[in-house]
Amino acid sequence: MKSPHKELDWPATEEKRETIADLMRRLLPLLGEDPSREGLQGTPQRMEAALRYLTSGYRQDPDKVLNAAFYQVSYDEMVIVKDIELFSLCEHHLLPFFGKCHIAYIPNQKVVGLSKLPRLVNLFARRLQVQERLTQQIARTIWEKLEPQGVGVVVEARHLCMVMRGVEKQHSTAVTSAMLGCFRDSPQTRQEFLSLVGSKGKS
Ligand code: ZN
Repeated sequence: MKSPHKELDWPATEEKRETIADLMRRLLPLLGEDPSREGLQGTPQRMEAALRYLTSGYRQDPDKVLNAAFYQVSYDEMVIVKDIELFSLCEHHLLPFFGKCHIAYIPNQKVVGLSKLPRLVNLFARRLQVQERLTQQIARTIWEKLEPQGVGVVVEARHLCMVMRGVEKQHSTAVTSAMLGCFRDSPQTRQEFLSLVGSKGKS
C-alpha cells in the first residue's frame, strides 16, 4: 500500500505546522481550558511536533527503509526478531496503543539486515492505525520485498482507548497475527514460530 505523494510531503511547510498548532489552540478552550495560562502556552506547538513525529511513517518509503539491505544467502532456516517495541496511534480515538511485535520469515535466498525490521515496524506504526491492518502491512511488505518462503507477524498491544476508558480490563492485551506462505500453509511452521515467541497467537 503506497502512500500518495502529497502524504509523503505533509506537513512540509511552516504554514501547515502553524495551522495545526492553531487548531490545537482553538481546541483547548472547547475542552474547558485557558490556552493562555502558563502551562499551556507552548502546548499547541508541542502537540503539533508530537503529532508530526507520531505520523512520520506517512513520509517514509518502505523501499528506502529496506533498500540496499538485501543479502543473497543459502540459509533457509527461520529468521526471528522478537520483542520489537511498538508505539502507534489508534485511528478511532487518536490515543496510543503499544506493545510488542514479533517477526519471522523463512528466506528464499534473500535476507534483510535484522536492524531493518524494527525500522519497518516504525514506518507502519507511526501512522493512524488499527492493529489488524498494521500487522498485515508489516507482513505484506516483507512478503513482497523479500519474496520469502513464508512470513509470520504477531503484534501484542494494549490500547489506551480501551484501558483508560475502562472499556476492557486494565491489563487486557489484543493479539493479532498475519501468516503468509509456508507460515499459513504449514501448521508446524506456524507453531514453531508461535512457541519461539511465546505467543498463543491466532490466525
Ligand atoms: Zn481507539
